[in-house]
Parts: sequence; structure tokens; C-alpha cells
Amino acid sequence: MGAIFSKLFQDKNATTQPKAAIDALKSEIVINTISDGIACVDERGILQLFNPAAVALTGWSASDAKDLDFHSIFKFFDATDHAVGDDQNPIATALRSGVAVERRDLTLETSSKKHLQVSIKVTPIVDANNQNATESGAVIVFRDISAELKDRSEQTEFISTASHEMRTPVAIIEGYLGMLMNPATATIDARAMSYAEKAHEASKRLGRLFQDLLDVTKVDDVREHLELSLIDAGAAAAQITDQFQMKASEKGLKLAYMNQQNGDGIKSLQPVHIIYADLYQLNEILGNIIENAIKYTKQGGVAVSVESTGSRVRFVVRDTGVGIPAEDVPHLFQKFYRVDNSDTREIGGTGLGLYLIKKLAENMGGTIGVESDYGHGSTFWVEFNELTRDQAVLKAQELKKKAELNSLNL
Ligand code: ADP
Repeated sequence: MGAIFSKLFQDKNATTQPKAAIDALKSEIVINTISDGIACVDERGILQLFNPAAVALTGWSASDAKDLDFHSIFKFFDATDHAVGDDQNPIATALRSGVAVERRDLTLETSSKKHLQVSIKVTPIVDANNQNATESGAVIVFRDISAELKDRSEQTEFISTASHEMRTPVAIIEGYLGMLMNPATATIDARAMSYAEKAHEASKRLGRLFQDLLDVTKVDDVREHLELSLIDAGAAAAQITDQFQMKASEKGLKLAYMNQQNGDGIKSLQPVHIIYADLYQLNEILGNIIENAIKYTKQGGVAVSVESTGSRVRFVVRDTGVGIPAEDVPHLFQKFYRVDNSDTREIGGTGLGLYLIKKLAENMGGTIGVESDYGHGSTFWVEFNELTRDQAVLKAQELKKKAELNSLNL
């Protein structure tokens, strides 16, 4: 690939190809004035090009960088400040795989050992005009995103503090309205009661909104604080379903965890499906889906089951509720999205629940989805990798060893 870039910068002096020379000159001006760092390596990973922005970002001069192996200049560190090896290094990965790699979670060490939060894209290239396949390499484009990340975290921090601060007065208002409506603590006439009831409903909605906003701001931190353990999917689903029995029966709905049964109705020995996940988060995800199923079902019921494809375990929640119009389905997991029609208008909500649980599921390598028959019911599902028996045994041993080391403070 060296040839491609040397051509780019040398041809501008060639008088025989004025058009090519002008094109090369234009490219050089773009590369030299762009604010993103641009570097190019050949197929061996040797630096061939290092633009002024790359110099400013890394602190290395172009003449020092040129002809060096990229490892000497591009030293990356992960979120825990550990130097990343070639298996994680975006340049090494792109050169090895021939596929473009983009990362925003790494820091780059500058010549003065400062760590810069960068966004980097490495695009492998092959010189199409050259028959020799080794004439390849990669273009590296990178920029400093520290200010951008700081802005975002300040914004998140603001929403989180504001929601937290507002929750307390809202809870107080809700409490006093409750007392006002309780004949044991206050006497009010029927008209005042109807006003108080409306205010009470609205304050409950507001409280829920602040709680959901708070949860959304926390969702990115959750990944770092996951408490992963081996979970028997069927047992967990049965136990989570049970927590909602009261809610379902209050609405006159049937709610059941469906064990697979023999034809004669006798429970068969259930196969155990093991996943490696955070039980608390699983509870949030599946609980939210079941709660929605009850909320959006007027009659009939909700059935929860666990299915396995061998490599993935799927938790499935089917309801006989209002269903979701096909045009709304693709948007359901977006922030604040609510289906707005006569079936749902009366039912309160924030449109944050599904957005939140999708993020929670993805944090644990899960996928979430829905199929719905409008007017007849919906089926929401969430699935995770299933561990084989051997994998589960190995994981259990690993966890046991970790716990022992922790208890010895090692
Ligand atoms: P909300 O707080 O509004 O319930 P969610 O994010 O949990 O927010 O859900 C988003 C929207 O998806 C809801 O407003 C509702 O219209 C629709 N929805 C979710 N679950 C169901 C369901 N089981 N049946 C029908 N509609 C549903």
C-alpha cells in the first residue's frame, strides 16, 4: 500500500499527468487541513502517513512516526486502564481480518503518556490496480472525544440529580393526597374527593416518570456492576411470574407459568436450561414484560414459558390483550414511545420501560423482541445464551474459586 500513498504525494510534481497531480494535491490539502487525525499503515503495519491533526493529537512528529510500526505510536487502553493486546487493538484487528473496525471505548496514550478518550475507525484497503494482494494496508481516522463524553455525562448527571430531587416532593404530595382521600384521616365532600383522586393519579404518574428517568440514567452504569451467576431459566421464570399473581387476579386475569406437561397432564421431568446472567436484572426485564402484559390486557390471561433452541434460551410472555398495530411495532423499544390509540390512551405510562429493559438485556448479551396480532394479543420475548452442562460446570468451578480467593482477600 506504500505505493498508493507515495503516489498520492509524489505525483503532484509530475508534469506528464496534470489531472492526476491536481487530484493528488487536493487530497493532500484535505488530509492536511482536516481536524481528524489520519494515519496510514502498510500491510506490515508500518506507518506511511501521519497528518498534522494526528501529530497534534498524539504528540508524535510526522517524521518520528513515519516508518515506525504502528504499535509504537498507537498504544490503546481499555476502560479499566489495561493496555489492550492485538486481539483487541483495532488496527491489528482490521489488518488481520480485512474488515473495518470502529471503537469509541478506548483511550490512546500520547507521547507524553496522557490518556485521550478517542473514537477510531480503521478501514483496510487493497490497491485494486495492483495485482499483488500484499499491496494493502489500512487507513486510520481518529479524534479526541473527551469533551463530547464529558458533556454527555454532565447531562446524564443533571437528569439523574433532578429526577432524584423531584421524587421526594412528589412522594410527599402523593402521601398527603392519600390522607385527604382517606375517611379515617380527613372529611371532604364528593366533589373535593373527585379532584383529590385526579391529583393523586397525576402525582403517581409523575413519581413513576421520575423513577423511570432515574433508571434510564443508571442503565449505562449497570454493565459495570452486573452480578452474574448461573440461573435455572425455568425456575427463575416461575418465581418471577409468581410475584405478579396478585396484580393479575385484581384484574380478573389468569397468569400462569406454563410448564411443559405430558399429554395426561402429569408434569414431566423438566429439562434444565442454564443461563449466565444477573438475576436482579432478569427480574427487572421479565417483570416489566409481565407487568405490561397484565396492564394491556382487559380479559383472558397471560402465559409465561421458557423455550430453548439449544444455544439460546427464550423467555416468552403471551397475552390476550389489546395487541399492537403493526406500524407501532418497530418503534416500541425507543425512548418515550407509546402507542397512542383508543385502547391505550386511558392506561398511564411513560414509554421508558421497554427502552430500559432492551438496554438491560443487551448489557447481558440478550436480545428482545415482540410479535403482535392487533386486537388479539402480543407475545414479547427475551433470550440469552444457553450454557451446555459442561460449560455450566466449568463456570460453577470458576465462580467457586473466585469466591474463595475473595474470602481470602487475594
Ligand atoms: P409504558 O410506560 O407506556 O407502558 P413501555 O415502554 O413499557 O411504556 O411500553 C411502550 C408501549 O408499548 C406502551 O405504551 C404500549 O402502548 C405498548 N405495549 C407494551 N407492552 C404491551 C403489551 N403487552 N400489549 C400491548 N401493548 C403493549
